[in-house]
Amino acid sequence: MARWPMVAGNWKMHKTAGEGAILTQNIDPLVSTIWEDVEIVVCPPFTALKSVSTVIELDKLKMGLGAQDVYWEDEGPFTGAISPRMLVDLRCDYVIVGHSERREFFGETDETVNKKVHAVFGAGMVPIVCVGETLATREAGETEPFVRGQVRAAVDGVSVEDAGRLVIAYEPIWAIGTGRTPTPESANDVARSIRATIGAVFGQPAAVAVRVLYGGSVKPENATMFFGEPDIDGALVGGASLDADSFARISEAAR
Ligand code: PEP
Repeated sequence: MARWPMVAGNWKMHKTAGEGAILTQNIDPLVSTIWEDVEIVVCPPFTALKSVSTVIELDKLKMGLGAQDVYWEDEGPFTGAISPRMLVDLRCDYVIVGHSERREFFGETDETVNKKVHAVFGAGMVPIVCVGETLATREAGETEPFVRGQVRAAVDGVSVEDAGRLVIAYEPIWAIGTGRTPTPESANDVARSIRATIGAVFGQPAAVAVRVLYGGSVKPENATMFFGEPDIDGALVGGASLDADSFARISEAAR
């Protein structure tokens, strides 16, 4: 069965609750004819999840909702943390886990990524697990072993059924927000390697089912090139997801 392409917008630390609701309402009419062909997901900051969720529910939008992070406990003395249960309550479908900015600025490790992956699946949501190499790792020719290691660590102990539902975003760190990208062929090589890793751990059906996104300076102008690659099932989009027209054009390209 063909995989359902996904385009997910990572709004990072942008948009207030009100601005997020307006952006969501602006995206909707631009993508109204492609819902069935492409799964479209927006990932606002925590403080805009409620307003965006309300727009999605009241206007009956077919857009999916994702958070940008989560803590792994359901409740307790963890000041500032947000639990999976709280995200489910806001009707989140997805949670971005292990984004390189979380790894770099907030102490995320392979071990905490794995705990979060389990917590997200445990709550009935799906993690969008981010992996990707630094420029130094790429220049050392170590990209694929490095990324395979990140994938193995992230999915350790996950069930075969959940493995097939995973979304993995391959995001070379040096391409995020820089305007630089790998060639589509080289991004596909890493995506294929990620799929093969899932296959080695969980078997061929999970490898065929897992969706692998490319992320890093995806724009309307370059999206089609990446989406033409056989192991790339869509994109995780940062900067360009903050503009309704750009995000819609990227989503259209994924069709
Ligand atoms: C991201 O941070 O997930 C990302 C892909 O950012 P950008 O599209 O801005 O490079």
